[in-house]
Amino acid sequence: MHELSIALNLVEIVDEAARRAGAERVVVVHLRLGAMSGVVQEALEFCFPLATEGTLVEGARLEIERVPLVVACASCERDVQPAEGSFRCPLCGALSMLIRQGRELEVTGIEVPDPEPAMEEP
Ligand SMILES: [Zn+2]
Repeated sequence: MHELSIALNLVEIVDEAARRAGAERVVVVHLRLGAMSGVVQEALEFCFPLATEGTLVEGARLEIERVPLVVACASCERDVQPAEGSFRCPLCGALSMLIRQGRELEVTGIEVPDPEPAMEEP
């Protein structure tokens, strides 16, 4: 399954980051998931616990933040949200659009049992 290899990959990244930070365990993994990432959220949530077995991430909760698809219309230059599966601008009908957001598949943070959060961006 596609999502299992993604889950394994995410767990590997988090496990490594946690080890580097000297953490013994990870309790929460925060993930941003774009509507166009090609990942089925339910499948990822199902695979995640399997992927964490034997790592520092075992038993951690996966917190997913959904990122809606936003595209910029190349014709009318406005940010629009087209209907699902459509690349036609709902405002002017043009077909050429640039994806601004919605492809995200990234770990934005991890939480360890210590009250200090580990991977915080400065
Ligand atoms: Zn447009």
